[in-house]
Amino acid sequence: MTKNNQPKNPREVLDELGAKWSPDLDAYLGGETDASKIRCTLCLEAPCACPEFGSDAYFALINRRHGRRS
Ligand SMILES: [Zn+2]
Repeated sequence: MTKNNQPKNPREVLDELGAKWSPDLDAYLGGETDASKIRCTLCLEAPCACPEFGSDAYFALINRRHGRRS
């Protein structure tokens, strides 16, 4: 078991995001929409309008999407 008090690294953050996929993915897989119309998991925009990857704003957005205060 790993300890839970270590800061998350970006890889772990991305793994968590992978578990929260776009709400449009089912429609895409069902052929009801195309990839360009899938909303981003994080900013919910299509196409994605996220802040620059790795920036403070990017991680703040991740924290908001996970319902955390940072
Ligand atoms: Zn985005």
